[in-house]
Amino acid sequence: MIDFSISPELEDIRRRITALMDEYVYQNEDKVIEHEGLPVDLERELQQKVKDARLWAPNLPKQWGGMGIGYVGQALVNEIIGRSVIAPRVFGSAAPDAGNAELLIIAANEAQQERYLRPLAAGDVRSCFAMTEPEVSGSDPTGLRTTAVRKGSEWVINGHKWFISGAIGSAFAIVMAVTDASAEPRKRASMIIVPAETAGFEIIRAVGVMGSGGVGGHCEIRFENCRVPAENLLGKVGEGFKLAQARLGPGRIQHCMRWLGAAERSFEMMCRYALERESFGEPLANKQTVQNWIADSAAEINAARMMTLHAAWKLDRGEDARIEISLIKFYGARVLHDVIDRAIQVHGALGYSKDTPLEMFYRDARAARIYDGPDEVHRMVVAQRILEQFRNEAKLD
Ligand SMILES: Cc1cc2nc3c(=O)[nH]c(=O)nc-3n(C[C@H](O)[C@H](O)[C@H](O)COP(=O)(O)OP(=O)(O)OC[C@H]3O[C@@H](n4cnc5c(N)ncnc54)[C@H](O)[C@@H]3O)c2cc1C
Repeated sequence: MIDFSISPELEDIRRRITALMDEYVYQNEDKVIEHEGLPVDLERELQQKVKDARLWAPNLPKQWGGMGIGYVGQALVNEIIGRSVIAPRVFGSAAPDAGNAELLIIAANEAQQERYLRPLAAGDVRSCFAMTEPEVSGSDPTGLRTTAVRKGSEWVINGHKWFISGAIGSAFAIVMAVTDASAEPRKRASMIIVPAETAGFEIIRAVGVMGSGGVGGHCEIRFENCRVPAENLLGKVGEGFKLAQARLGPGRIQHCMRWLGAAERSFEMMCRYALERESFGEPLANKQTVQNWIADSAAEINAARMMTLHAAWKLDRGEDARIEISLIKFYGARVLHDVIDRAIQVHGALGYSKDTPLEMFYRDARAARIYDGPDEVHRMVVAQRILEQFRNEAKLD
């Protein structure tokens, strides 16, 4: 039998997170500085309240100071945290730090974990993940050009990256670089940890973007004869793509979990406004078109939630969830966009103004169809995998 109930422990966690959101998060949203986030002191104060309530880092295991609630647990709490653009950092579960911490848990050795993971998991430092390059397709990173050449006891890195989220102010970057150009495509690259103070690591600029930008910008970076000790290699030589998959799979689903929160909050705003705003002698809620938007949005959010929970459940069971993650990545991004779009339409000029969170949600939602793999690539992955199953079936006949 399928059980949709939520355990009493998770219900209690959800209730306590909701209380913190109500008491401290929503009321501080207007303190956000576009492209910078909350003022540092205020963010630290709010993070401390979350830590005191033992609600820090839902994505991390308890041994690293997190909540240890698995992927289904994360889905259920990230849905609440995703209701506000400032909450993921307040609760210690924001990209890219969350994904980097998970990667360091999987791939870092003890010394690397002490030096990089411990302060990251505690929220004492920030980090970035440097894979995408302006000159080649980010959708097909086997074409990456940044190189890391082993010289004696060092790696010497040269290359050009962009859209590296959070780079300004990061303590270190996890860099994807080609270490063996002659290897097969998915074994050419490795991951290397580069402390931000290393000579030859240069942040050129924060790229101007449509969305709210987030803390530390989406940056263009150059590596010029950037030398780091050989022991900064993460995992083994040639494991870059394997580790990227391990990092990006759960990372994508965490985005989807947060999108549900933004979609749900926009939906609630749409319903409340439709009931209170009158036009042509009756509330907007009486118009069939608005009712259709409400019904469609409810159906789509519910479908996206079920799909997200299903992918999370498979990950918790240690099963391959590649298809489920790709499904929810492109479907969830579309639902997020469409629900916010309808909510803005119902609000009229107010929806277009900065007096509600809807316009920022809308600008941020556009990026969801591109980062961590564009819609088209995830559709391709899903279709190829499904067709492969049918091909194999045909061979058996
Ligand atoms: C807000 C934001 C934050 C980001 N943060 C990071 C980060 O922290 N670190 C990092 O390394 N990168 C980051 N990225 C980069 C992101 O991962 C890439 O933008 C993404 O992988 C797409 O690569 P691209 O931009 O080079 O587009 P391209 O690969 O050049 O693709 C361009 C377009 O071509 C189409 N396309 C591509 N392949 C196919 C296909 N097979 N079939 C059909 N159509 C196709 C798609 O419509 C796609 O949008 C971020 C991007 C954004 C927008």
